Amino acid sequence: MFTGPVPQDPTATDVSFADLGLSPPVVRSVTSIGFEYPTPIQVQVIPKALEGHDVIGLAQTGSGKTGAFGLPMAEHLIHGKGVRGLILCPTREIALQTQSFLEVVGRDHQLSTVCLIGGVKLGPQIQDLRRHPDIVVATPGRLWDHYERRNLKLDRIEKMVLDEADHMLDLGFLPQILRVFEAVPTDRQTMMFSATMPPSVENLARRFMRTPLRVDLRPDTRIAEGIEHRLYMVEPQNTKACLLAIAAAEKGSMLIFLRRKVDAEWACKQLEKEGHPVERIHSDRTQKQRVEALQGLRLGEHRILLATDIAARGIDIPIIEHIVNYGAPDSLEDYIHRAGRTARGALKGTVSTIATWQDKEYIRLIEKAIGKPLPRFVAEGVEPYIERKTTIRGRPKIRRRLT
Ligand code: AMP
Repeated sequence: MFTGPVPQDPTATDVSFADLGLSPPVVRSVTSIGFEYPTPIQVQVIPKALEGHDVIGLAQTGSGKTGAFGLPMAEHLIHGKGVRGLILCPTREIALQTQSFLEVVGRDHQLSTVCLIGGVKLGPQIQDLRRHPDIVVATPGRLWDHYERRNLKLDRIEKMVLDEADHMLDLGFLPQILRVFEAVPTDRQTMMFSATMPPSVENLARRFMRTPLRVDLRPDTRIAEGIEHRLYMVEPQNTKACLLAIAAAEKGSMLIFLRRKVDAEWACKQLEKEGHPVERIHSDRTQKQRVEALQGLRLGEHRILLATDIAARGIDIPIIEHIVNYGAPDSLEDYIHRAGRTARGALKGTVSTIATWQDKEYIRLIEKAIGKPLPRFVAEGVEPYIERKTTIRGRPKIRRRLT
């Protein structure tokens, strides 16, 4: 059942980092962390960012966005001139990952980065701010908290990045983001990254960016080719049994998305009882527990990770063989986002969705996006839901049992 570490595979290009205009020290630092070739978003964004343009980058999670904005930032900023770089992130995990990346690529320029995230004490962060950082990586709420307490100034920001802008807005950070935009200098460079471009994000770009260049690297089909989609339609009382049956039937690494924390807790206990190496991340887990759970999955210490959607968004989860949606995702974007955790590059993966009749509307949207019906599957020992085909007037036409 144990499958060992799971590989990472951001699709690389055949251009070199030096070709993009980066200096030898910065190229050395990326090479030192094992990046040989830039990813497509890095190829498109880095030269423009080095020229000082505002950029909107539309790309999926895992595309290499951090390098796309982090490398030009490391190239331009000089140590000891006050906080010049500001990166806003939706979650604590993304902020921490971004900080560690910047620490490596900024080493040659002695750039120091602080991370201001919620859920931990203010004191140590205040100490960090007193050590004259050059870059601040922050979640918007905690950044604003520090700003109001006058723990940091934002009047020297030259480079500002909004990472996963759509998720930050989903999480309700718009008020803090607007205040930050009012507090930073207007002649800064702004870069915004987002997996989707809803009107709320367009609006931010229109108000606060200067003729931004748009780099859109979302694949045409939006859903990777190598994915096998499976739909398990069941009665609401059978969803749990279905989840356990899938977890037992599949042998590889598995990421299970659930809507509710209670379900994640229940599933964790139950799967553990059935002998599966399993961990979970959700908002009641501490920062340390979440980091350990992710690290454990990366190292292959546990095979299954349970995650509520909010806790899992954007985090750098390695490539997973099986994605399971316990309940259909609320939107097509979420389905695509989650599916993006598997079948990257040439790898294959499966996305299994456990749904009930209440999810039919979402299922229809997903089927439209992938251009064909989701193949129906039946989990061993679990009675399938019997779908009815309806006429235009909504009357049942045929009843068929799924196989
Ligand atoms: P990101 O989208 O920035 O979170 O990156 C996703 C994953 O790809 C992370 O594990 C990065 O370390 C990795 N990565 C980013 N850029 C490259 C690159 N040019 N070469 C190899 N790995 C990369």
